Amino acid sequence: QPTLDVSAVRNDFPILGKPLAEGRPLIYLDNGATTQKPQCVIDKVTECYENYNANVHRGVHTLGDQVTTELENARETVQNLLNTAAVEEVIFTAGTTAAINLVAHGWARKFLSAGDEILVNLMEHHANLVPWQQAAAATGATLRYLPLTPDGRLDLTRLDEVLTEKTKLVAVTGMSNVLGTINPIDELARRAHAVGAVILVDGAQSVPHQPVDVQASDIDFLAFSGHKIYGPTGIGVLYGKAALLNAMDPFLGGGNMIRYVYEDRFEPADLPAKFEAGTLPIAQAIALGTAIDYVTDLGFEAIAAQEHQLTVRAQERLAEIPGLRIFGPAPEHKGSIVSFAVEGLHSHDMGELLDRKGVEIRVGHHCTMPLHDWLQVSSTSRASFAFYNTLEEVDALAEAILYARKVFRLA
Ligand code: PMP
Repeated sequence: QPTLDVSAVRNDFPILGKPLAEGRPLIYLDNGATTQKPQCVIDKVTECYENYNANVHRGVHTLGDQVTTELENARETVQNLLNTAAVEEVIFTAGTTAAINLVAHGWARKFLSAGDEILVNLMEHHANLVPWQQAAAATGATLRYLPLTPDGRLDLTRLDEVLTEKTKLVAVTGMSNVLGTINPIDELARRAHAVGAVILVDGAQSVPHQPVDVQASDIDFLAFSGHKIYGPTGIGVLYGKAALLNAMDPFLGGGNMIRYVYEDRFEPADLPAKFEAGTLPIAQAIALGTAIDYVTDLGFEAIAAQEHQLTVRAQERLAEIPGLRIFGPAPEHKGSIVSFAVEGLHSHDMGELLDRKGVEIRVGHHCTMPLHDWLQVSSTSRASFAFYNTLEEVDALAEAILYARKVFRLA
């Protein structure tokens, strides 16, 4: 099995070598919220602005050509990452949220009507729920929920009850941002297609941690965010099958997305410009390409092995802590996310006390309120690991939780 030289990899991330104020070490365990950036990504952003800053696809000048080539190279890098059939199936968006909303407007509002159903489930991020609630309200379609198993996986034994001829869309996350659950996308795609539905995968948490092949998995739409895959903020991707994208309405109107504009109407441009109105986050898109090159050079197998090791250790260490409940399935069914609650300790206190030890985690509902209602807790604490985290950092997390318990005088 390929392994990572973690200390060498850590040197690629300048922030990891910088202690927090008062000399506390930085133990960054909030990678589900956003990941740190390697030097090569930071340098690429600077390179864009220093060397070939211009608008893309507009100029007949040298800089414009240069920046356009860089941007289109980044699009090809995304194509290779996802194995899309065509490069124009890669649409640059502002992030996962923007990508999902694009489909909710351009596809759902055009093709859904009363009586149609959208299949979701309780582990979805608000970004993969609210746009469907809005689209349902606009079209008369309804949302159905696939139940979860007690340990927080999709209950496929109930799929036949909720996935029917009425289902037009299955919207599902590749990996839960709270439970860490990795969902069986290939099977869901097969089952969705068997009833004539399309499947949209929220890849915000899954794409940075596991290989994806949209053709092999027969995924119709896939969204992910650059900032969670070691790239810049403000950039993300919507993949869609060309036939679907071509049939959809454009979401945003404006420059770049048209072929021709008359006084009273317009003809949309071809893919991908049709869905890229206005000026893109150009440097961010180009540096996203660099980030993807960086992770693919490390290799997803090596990344997954390191992250799995961290997850297993975290589950072991945290299970020893009295009054601590871990949410979500066993490590073999999940990615590198461990959410927990400690009896008698509110997650916001937990977050602050861990921060005193330099341990940065996320606390709250993590944009999954229906999931937290189902778990019957108002908030949770979440540690989320990246390949640059170490077993020592996981131990520091456990020690910091014990410290927090002591501060609260929990027996
Ligand atoms: N889906 C999931 C599963 C996520 O974890 C997140 C980010 N927290 C999003 C969607 C939204 O991503 P973004 O804020 O980058 O649009």
